[in-house]
Amino acid sequence: MEYLDLNMELTDEQLDLKKSVNKFAREVLRPAAMELDKLANPEDVLKKDSVYWDCMRQMKELGYHTVYIPDNYGGLGLSPLEAHIFWEEIGWGSSGFAVSIGVDCFPAFFASMAPDDGDKVIEEVVKPFVEKVDNSFIGCWAITEPNHGSDQLTIGLPWFKDPKITGQVSARLDGDVWVLNGQKSSWVSNGPQATHALLFLNIEKSMGLAGGGVAVVPLDLPGVSKGKCLDKMGQRELPQGEIYFDHVRLPKHFMLTQPDTYEAMLDATLAIANATMGAMFTGVARAAFEEALDYSKVRVQGGKLLCEHQLVQKKLFDMFQKVETARAISRAVMNYNFTNFPPVTRYSILSKVYCTNAAFEIANEAVQLFGGYGVSKEYYIEKLLRDARASLIEDGSNEVLALTAARALIEESE
Ligand SMILES: Cc1cc2nc3c(=O)[nH]c(=O)nc-3n(C[C@H](O)[C@H](O)[C@H](O)COP(=O)(O)OP(=O)(O)OC[C@H]3O[C@@H](n4cnc5c(N)ncnc54)[C@H](O)[C@@H]3O)c2cc1C
Repeated sequence: MEYLDLNMELTDEQLDLKKSVNKFAREVLRPAAMELDKLANPEDVLKKDSVYWDCMRQMKELGYHTVYIPDNYGGLGLSPLEAHIFWEEIGWGSSGFAVSIGVDCFPAFFASMAPDDGDKVIEEVVKPFVEKVDNSFIGCWAITEPNHGSDQLTIGLPWFKDPKITGQVSARLDGDVWVLNGQKSSWVSNGPQATHALLFLNIEKSMGLAGGGVAVVPLDLPGVSKGKCLDKMGQRELPQGEIYFDHVRLPKHFMLTQPDTYEAMLDATLAIANATMGAMFTGVARAAFEEALDYSKVRVQGGKLLCEHQLVQKKLFDMFQKVETARAISRAVMNYNFTNFPPVTRYSILSKVYCTNAAFEIANEAVQLFGGYGVSKEYYIEKLLRDARASLIEDGSNEVLALTAARALIEESE
């Protein structure tokens, strides 16, 4: 269903962007995601002849992997509003593919902003990422560890600087190389198939989790190994898995951030990632609403269509209200935080938390409206509910993100 865009200033090009990305999401991503979701073994998502590879290749040929890469390096050059339109449509088609192509660009995006030794990482990371559209360069964002999930994201909370709490992946400088040791958890999206990681690690133990660094790590370096693909409830088209580092020797120029600027970089990363999640899950919320609306117009109970019953009408209106609010918030946040530096991260958190909650609540209510069919694998709404459920934890659990935002609000008002 086409939605009415309340922004009357959208140009013809922006309306065309919305149409063309929606067509791709409808015809390519959604059917592929439904097919991959049915695979019992998550390893099969990455089998040689899997439709996963074809979808990623098609997205890369269209330049979808370069949404956040500056146009002087060959990126798409979308404005924040256009990026929002793009992510909403991709999320509408498949949240798993949206996250996969989203984290794909993390190493190159961060390398494109590197202040020092910029030329080397541009040549070795940014340019090959943009140019290689045959799946031979795939990125991931590795921050979560088996013992530190929420901990890694709680900037500003008291324990973040506690020297007794340090990350499990460490980096030590040895002449001209950093030596990496440790493990990232099975939650790393694209972990199993990634060729490069944007790795968040610990450098200065005495500073606790605040003593971190950020590096781009080519994952073909000696000492890197991978775990199995994670078997999980939702977003099953998105491969996830552990990455291990055993005395990996990383040339010095790949370290982009050191402890002096780590907190600021982590904050900016969260602002970008959470704002993007807000846009993607506006798309999921809309997809779930559409499923409910369509079904209510074909199912008859009590002698009339479900949509003719007043209680159902009220539920449909509540869903519509949440979708429109999600879009309004997530667009405003993306526009503000992608235009101003430093971004105001609590607004990105607001966007992520509101939109993922909306997607989950709408999908949950939609399943109810489908009755028994709602929990049957035959209907797409069942997948949307599982996908939306995962998003309440993905990119930071909504509760912990709220704590971080509340801390910022309190400090701001002091
Ligand atoms: C689909 C999906 C995709 C993901 N993709 C990536 C990725 O690409 N890269 C990556 O590195 N990670 C990724 N993650 C990991 C994600 O960021 C973590 O799962 C998340 O930060 C929560 O960490 P945890 O799972 O270790 O839970 P924990 O941190 O162990 O939290 C468990 C529970 O305790 C609560 N809790 C934790 N701390 C506090 C506190 N201080 N106060 C009150 N309550 C608290 C949490 O809200 C949660 O309910 C992904 C996760 C999912 C589900």
